[in-house]
Amino acid sequence: MDSRGCRPLSAVHKVVDPSTEEIIQSVALASIEDTDAAIAKAHLAFDSWRRVAPADRGRLLRRFAEAVDGAIEELAQLEVANAGHTIGNARWEAGNVRDVLHYYAAAPERHTGQQIPVAGGIDLTFHEPLGVVGIIVPWNFPMPIAAWGFAPALAAGNTVVVKPAEVTPLTALRLGELALEAGIPEGVFTVLAGKGSVVGARFVSHRDIRKICFTGSTEVGKQIMAGCADQMKRVTLELGGKSANIVFADADLEAAAASAPAGVFDNAGQDCCARSRILVQEGVYDRFLELLEPAVRAVRVTHPAEESADMGPLISGAQRDRVASYVDDTVDVAFRGTAPEGAGYWFPPTVVLPGSRRDRVWREEVFGPVVAVLPFTDEADAIAAANDSDYGLSGSIWTRDVARALRVSRGVDAGNLSVNSHSSVRYSTPFGGFKQSGLGRELGPAALDSFSEVKNVFISTEGP
Ligand code: NAD
Repeated sequence: MDSRGCRPLSAVHKVVDPSTEEIIQSVALASIEDTDAAIAKAHLAFDSWRRVAPADRGRLLRRFAEAVDGAIEELAQLEVANAGHTIGNARWEAGNVRDVLHYYAAAPERHTGQQIPVAGGIDLTFHEPLGVVGIIVPWNFPMPIAAWGFAPALAAGNTVVVKPAEVTPLTALRLGELALEAGIPEGVFTVLAGKGSVVGARFVSHRDIRKICFTGSTEVGKQIMAGCADQMKRVTLELGGKSANIVFADADLEAAAASAPAGVFDNAGQDCCARSRILVQEGVYDRFLELLEPAVRAVRVTHPAEESADMGPLISGAQRDRVASYVDDTVDVAFRGTAPEGAGYWFPPTVVLPGSRRDRVWREEVFGPVVAVLPFTDEADAIAAANDSDYGLSGSIWTRDVARALRVSRGVDAGNLSVNSHSSVRYSTPFGGFKQSGLGRELGPAALDSFSEVKNVFISTEGP
């Protein structure tokens, strides 16, 4: 604040619609003092929230889910405007927040401990909540990624502070309001728009934040992990990816080619699970490319509010420049789809043929609608090529041979694989990465364990 009580200009972020490049809203950015005040409130609220009876905590989370359900269209439209998501995807994402809340609303009453047989007494384990959990969210999926952290964290009895990415704060801020409207007590769930270097860094250094749930780039993830070491702060990291889509000669080639664009170009390729490396077995390589071309040209890239849109714009001009740097004159472009011209951060779906497995476009996460295709010889070569990466998040295997599907699934070092499909994330199954794609798992039945500490208590039954 300056002497007139006004925020300095740097403390406001102008939110831009990536489809039009127009400013749609200004959002105040939290300072370190604002962050400390929110953490203090969350710390104060923790003592009562952890004591809310499990069934009542579940009931409140269900009410929160119902409030989200009532606002699906509003949240979806906000995401179309703020992040350029297609309206179909945005509705799914808002629905996913509701579903994740419903799923974990059932958890407080089921998060049971153990009674372990020991001599001389009774041994019991309890799951104790950690305290205040800080959730740091990237811009690519602002709603679901926030919910995958906050829903199980709240269910386990923690209070939560969420920091959305600078460029995409709108849906997270609305979710914060919906939580209050649903009866979640003040201080239990707080959303703070702000910079990573200010709010995010303060989450890491503040002693009352007991866990960081970070989703974002591997580069920042490493800094967060190092920062958390100082206080032995718990940390879950969901980071980058360069996932392989492996197509064997015995696969249903038509189905593999028809679905490959959605496996990589969904959300304009700004997806940590994007299958951005397609490996095709020699012998069907040329046929696969023949089938892939019409599928790529059919991807409808248009204003994301149109019901028929398959793909919208990239998030920003800077992201478009970054993506374009992977498709310079040295790169062999096989074919590309179309994209609108004029305002908006558009980039057409693009298929490239790298010179080798050493090429930058084959190795680095592009985070845009660019997919690279290379051949492989046999099963061992496919696994070796898929694993020749610092990442290990996701991937697909296309084959009609169930035994091969299982062998290759076990051989590929990645946390989330799908056979004859490109599905990666279900709220009822664990999600996370191998190697530099992350640390820990989110979602699934065990998620509350990573938001609580196990306490062991022995009670002597022998007389004093
Ligand atoms: P990013 O790392 O730049 O930022 C992510 C978040 O961290 C933002 O909220 C940002 O403000 C914050 N941040 C930045 N610097 C910080 C610091 N020093 N301390 C604390 N917080 C800080 O990532 P991005 O560009 O927003 O997102 C794209 C990346 O996220 C891609 O690499 C993508 O693969 C990854 N991602 C991973 C998953 C997954 O589940 N594995 C999911 C989505 C995105």
